[in-house]
Amino acid sequence: MHEVAIVNDLFRIVLDVAEKEKLKKVDKVHFQLGKMMQVVPDLFKFAFDSAKADTLAAEAELEIEFLPVRMKCRQCGTEFELKQQNFQCPDCQGMDLDMVQGRELIVKSIEGE
Ligand SMILES: [Zn+2]
Repeated sequence: MHEVAIVNDLFRIVLDVAEKEKLKKVDKVHFQLGKMMQVVPDLFKFAFDSAKADTLAAEAELEIEFLPVRMKCRQCGTEFELKQQNFQCPDCQGMDLDMVQGRELIVKSIEGE
């Protein structure tokens, strides 16, 4: 269950930021997760709920935004959203692609007081 490892990493960032901002309490945390990371929302939420216990974020609400996987063709430069694992450029049918989005694990915002 790699959700636990991801949550632990992200949660460390949340607590660092909360400390720097001198927050007494974290109300809401907004994460952006690339779809390629294949995070299961229920498992992520479960891991988040256990990580937040007895911290500044004990009552924090969780918001997850999934970022679509985007590829860029090395031949013609077209960028497109990857759907159904179709690893082919829609313009030139090239198969030489770079992933430009999809592996993100980002703390987008933290709300608190
Ligand atoms: Zn192309």
